[in-house]
Amino acid sequence: MSRVAIIGAGIGGLATAIGLQRHGWDVSVLERSAPDSQVGAGLSLFANGFRALDAIGVGDAVRAMAGPEQVLTAGSRRRDGRWLATTPPGAVRELRVVHRADLHRVLTAELGPGTIAYGKNVVEPLTGYDVVVAADGLRSPTRGTDIRYSGYTSWRGVTERPVDLLGGAGESLGRGERFGLAPLPDGRVYWFGVASTPAGTAFPDEFAEIRRRFEGWHAPIAEVLDATGPAAVVRTDIYDLAKPLASYVRGTTVLLGDAAHAMTPDLGQGANMALEDAATLSHLLSARPIAEALTAYDRNRRPRTQALARRARLMGRLLQSRSPQRDTLLRLTPASVVAR
Ligand SMILES: Cc1cc2nc3c(=O)[nH]c(=O)nc-3n(C[C@H](O)[C@H](O)[C@H](O)COP(=O)(O)OP(=O)(O)OC[C@H]3O[C@@H](n4cnc5c(N)ncnc54)[C@H](O)[C@@H]3O)c2cc1C
Repeated sequence: MSRVAIIGAGIGGLATAIGLQRHGWDVSVLERSAPDSQVGAGLSLFANGFRALDAIGVGDAVRAMAGPEQVLTAGSRRRDGRWLATTPPGAVRELRVVHRADLHRVLTAELGPGTIAYGKNVVEPLTGYDVVVAADGLRSPTRGTDIRYSGYTSWRGVTERPVDLLGGAGESLGRGERFGLAPLPDGRVYWFGVASTPAGTAFPDEFAEIRRRFEGWHAPIAEVLDATGPAAVVRTDIYDLAKPLASYVRGTTVLLGDAAHAMTPDLGQGANMALEDAATLSHLLSARPIAEALTAYDRNRRPRTQALARRARLMGRLLQSRSPQRDTLLRLTPASVVAR
């Protein structure tokens, strides 16, 4: 039986472990943190992410705990609530929002007992495995190349109780600031705030800073913040890779997910790409000799993921722009393009 070590029990590592275990591989996942320590709030999954989950056999388990398909008008609004661009319900195929902790729980439950070893910080190259998958995230010690600050930071939260979104979801745009709203299956709301700030800026009271920045924005933003416990808010400075990698494969070690192609979250595709990587890699490793499979994985995944990373960065720059022309551009963009 072929042996694989997977570094990191994030979404990419867990999905790869499921895919390979189902193809009969002997899988060990090494995760530096403790069980259930995954932070985060909501996560948008799109049709491509669900296709990848279907390929590893867990699509329906995730659908069962995900939010409804897009049921509200979504798109971009001004801070006063006037729509700039809309995607009507149903225009984006199978966009659903999940709670990140729920997704982790569902994926972890699909693995055989003892597959994941927690509290294992991998710092040395691993030996004794046929393949090592580095799914160790943005700051991957295995990859070891530079990351680049995007110029903006984010706060993410989930309300403690249901809040009526008044028929609309998506992002609202200020000058160098954005606020996003999305419904979770039980009526609670996943929200995020984004603001242009120098890297590493610390605020004495993060929640007070969010309130100050988004005060006076359209309803129900104030109500959503009122319904959120400050302790559950996650602050994340946004980075991506400074330069696209020349290869995702080094010998029998293969990079996957953010370790390979960390992108800014402006298209909501980072985790979806990690799922696609996982489905592709486990399929190829079950169908071909290892060296051939890894070469095919690199050839298949690098162009798509690097193109999306480029587009995400451009989208982030546009959305964070303080120029009034941004709003004109968004207003003039046809709905079909927004949906795509
Ligand atoms: C604000 C924000 C919003 C986002 N929203 C979306 C969205 O809506 N949709 C979407 O698709 N994506 C979104 N993303 C991106 C998404 O979160 C990532 O792309 C995704 O989590 C990457 O998964 P991963 O498994 O590659 O890495 P990670 O989730 O980072 O997992 C890496 C794991 O490796 C472990 N690890 C690291 N180093 C070691 C080590 N040395 N030894 C052992 N373990 C180690 C870590 O503890 C971690 O568990 C968002 C990101 C941000 C910052």
